[in-house]
Amino acid sequence: MKVTIVFPGRSLETAKPTGSVMPLAPTLLAALTPDEHEISLVDMFFGDQVDYESDVDVVAITVRTPLAVIAYEIADNFLKRGKKVILGGPHIFTFPEEAKQHATAVAIGEGEELWPIILKDAGENQLKDFYVCGPYGADRLPGTVYQKKQRPALRNFPMMRRDLLPRGRYFMDSIFTTRGCPNHCRFCPVTDIFGPKIRHRPIQEVVAEVDTLGKRYFNVDDSVFGHPQIVDQPHESRYYFDLYRELSQLRPKRLWTGAGGISAVNYKDGRKILELAAESGLCSIAAGLESISAKGQKQSGAWRKLHYSSPDAFDIQKMKTNIRTIQSLGIEIKGFFIIGWDEDTSDTYRRTLDFCDECNIIPFIFTLAPMPGSQIYREYLEQGRIFTDRPWNHYGGGYIIYKHPIMSEQEMFDLNAEVMMEGYSMRRVLKRTLQAVRHRFSLDVATSSFFTQMGLRKAYRQLYEQTPRPRLH
Ligand code: SF4
Repeated sequence: MKVTIVFPGRSLETAKPTGSVMPLAPTLLAALTPDEHEISLVDMFFGDQVDYESDVDVVAITVRTPLAVIAYEIADNFLKRGKKVILGGPHIFTFPEEAKQHATAVAIGEGEELWPIILKDAGENQLKDFYVCGPYGADRLPGTVYQKKQRPALRNFPMMRRDLLPRGRYFMDSIFTTRGCPNHCRFCPVTDIFGPKIRHRPIQEVVAEVDTLGKRYFNVDDSVFGHPQIVDQPHESRYYFDLYRELSQLRPKRLWTGAGGISAVNYKDGRKILELAAESGLCSIAAGLESISAKGQKQSGAWRKLHYSSPDAFDIQKMKTNIRTIQSLGIEIKGFFIIGWDEDTSDTYRRTLDFCDECNIIPFIFTLAPMPGSQIYREYLEQGRIFTDRPWNHYGGGYIIYKHPIMSEQEMFDLNAEVMMEGYSMRRVLKRTLQAVRHRFSLDVATSSFFTQMGLRKAYRQLYEQTPRPRLH
């Protein structure tokens, strides 16, 4: 069969590159496609166009909530032409029945072990309605179901098919080493989707794969330092010691980035993990700090990943100390904050930017967008606080999609735009680049820091110019 995997972009007319990291899921699915099939990838984020007139037999599309509208439109266009359409991805996990209206079959959960079975059934014209991987309540699904209750073991994966995408157009490759997250942050569906138990890829498989990558890569794990609840167990910290020691031996050594909790500083073995990660090429982390207030920490549930003993034990001085320790190892910090917790007020935006300035961290300040699948989404939906008339593409970007008890939609939109414009002023970009070089003297680090920030500066300007300002109600 001829099989195409589509990674949807923000618009059907995507013509300009808008991403910088090579997408991982389609290259992994392509690698898991049995040899008898002919496979192609379409990355709309980088301007690939979908060819509806091709003689493809099966089309698989990844559906993430902000791109669900586009994904469904592409799916419908292929269905009209008699093609078999398979939909999978995080949005499907919460809305399998909605997705089924646009698909021949729907894949729920991790796709690696489902994919060969789906292709076999497609070849025999025996597709079921739903394919499920993991402990998911499949009995409530309306239609025929195949379910594999165990999550994949993440071993013996073939090499990802990065060769199917023109590598030169991406700033970074991407890999993963673990899946699962025990933290249950209230705004995030990851623990439900991947489970609370951490699964690791074998170190030799990861290292062999990194050895095939370009100069820079992004590790898509939820935490590249492990998680506070378990990382001090000897086998867990051993995994990170061994992984980063092995990666340090590779030549050329790659620069890499990923998501990592600043609480790693407080683990028994955390300092050593951080040093080894930096030695292996880690030059920056995306750190989910979520809020500079104790109430925001409590409402977001982030206190667990930040390693506080209870929701009320938040200590901003400790947060600052941890940030400084990580920066002193030559690891730049991108600080992710969510504004819009119930006690937040209009000055929370400004105070959060001031905090980023004081700590010299790259600001990612977003207004809360309750994502389907998260606890916050379920609660706000029940309380009638979600604007249910908004399309899925308003989940993400600058749109406001829920009612805040104090701030208006307009106020939140304007304040968010203001701090993100200011947060990427040239003065701030240069100051942060200089600080990155001061901690790690390297042309590669300086270039990476500067161009990443300039890319973000452009992206935020475009975002707030293109997103319509909410109307007063
Ligand atoms: S935000 Fe990060 S730490 Fe929290 S549940 Fe999601 S993946 Fe886990």
